[in-house]
Amino acid sequence: RAKEEGRNTFCYFSAEISTATLGELLLENDLFGALERGELLLHYQPKVDAASGEIVAAEALMRWHHRERGLISPEQFIPLAEENGLINAFGEWAIRAVCAQQRAWLDAGLLVVPVAVNISAHQFAQQDLPNMLAHALAEYGLPPQLLELELTESLLMRNSARAAAVLQTLRRMHVQVAIDDFGTGYSSLSYLRQFPVQSLKIDRSFVCQIGEHGEPVRLASAIIAMAHELDLTVIAEGVENEIQARYLAEHGCDQFQGYLYGRPQTAAAFGALLAERQLASA
Ligand code: C2E
Ligand code: MG
Ligand code: MG
Ligand code: MG
Repeated sequence: RAKEEGRNTFCYFSAEISTATLGELLLENDLFGALERGELLLHYQPKVDAASGEIVAAEALMRWHHRERGLISPEQFIPLAEENGLINAFGEWAIRAVCAQQRAWLDAGLLVVPVAVNISAHQFAQQDLPNMLAHALAEYGLPPQLLELELTESLLMRNSARAAAVLQTLRRMHVQVAIDDFGTGYSSLSYLRQFPVQSLKIDRSFVCQIGEHGEPVRLASAIIAMAHELDLTVIAEGVENEIQARYLAEHGCDQFQGYLYGRPQTAAAFGALLAERQLASA
């Protein structure tokens, strides 16, 4: 009987898996032409100063505009792109797209802010990032301070020797680097000493529990205190309400990013936000 049950379970799951796989295969097939068809785009989400609420930076987040399915989240297609090797081309496209956008905003007379690009582990392992960045910055005539990179804690842990070397080079180039999704990789802050980065982003999973008085909340404040000892700027991701913002500000968090301050938005909308801020301060 157990055997029968086992077999039934197997059939049940295999049917489910094959439907999921078919959907994925169809999606992956379309993904191959996405870049050439101009279907990739970037949305921009503000990072604000914790004390003043002013926009001080932004993060570029990739979307795929599929002709039938509409906007597809990076959580769905980045893992596929990592598996099939497209991530290198996508990642390079994102860096160049941010540079082109910054150049366009500068040419329009806007006071721009540094914009961060996410780098995937596969891309980091395979590409000569400093070289690619140098070319992109030169092509668009941008100061390196206008481009930032976000590397996840797990990426650094998996590639620590190479990461330390690449980060040294980036520092010499004056390209800023943030550790993304911090707190999820179980690395200690002292371990991070070997990586010359400028800021650290507390993962949303900690931030969203603030107000619930659990262990993760105390962890969030411990991360802030320790990061400051390493002279890192601390950014909280996924700040959605005032309770979280107040708690984080009280514990010395430097910057906020989250729906409370602005969703990821089109380049046009973010450009308008920059213009508004400029008018307000004029
Ligand atoms: P991430 O770099 O940690 O980006 C933060 C994610 O949190 C974004 O999801 C953002 O939209 C979302 N978020 C921001 N504020 C809030 C909030 O207040 N509440 C909630 N619930 N979510 C918030 P998104 O845009 O779906 O991106 C997901 C992940 O995909 C990113 O996580 C990043 O790891 C990856 N990704 C996005 N763009 C790129 C890219 O150009 N290249 C690579 N390699 N990965 C990317
Ligand atoms: Mg990020
Ligand atoms: Mg993050
Ligand atoms: Mg994340």
